Amino acid sequence: MIPFYAAISTIFKLKRTCLKCGRDQVVKPSKKYEAVPYKFCTANIPPP
Ligand SMILES: [Zn+2]
Repeated sequence: MIPFYAAISTIFKLKRTCLKCGRDQVVKPSKKYEAVPYKFCTANIPPP
């Protein structure tokens, strides 16, 4: 059990790259399986 490492890997799983502008955004765990509006360009990013 390495909680810190587990937290890091969770963040990587929740990270999505915007298809429109190519920037990365970390998605909230509650939105993991939903398309989320990207905060910079407002394009929707579908779940991987
Ligand atoms: Zn974008």
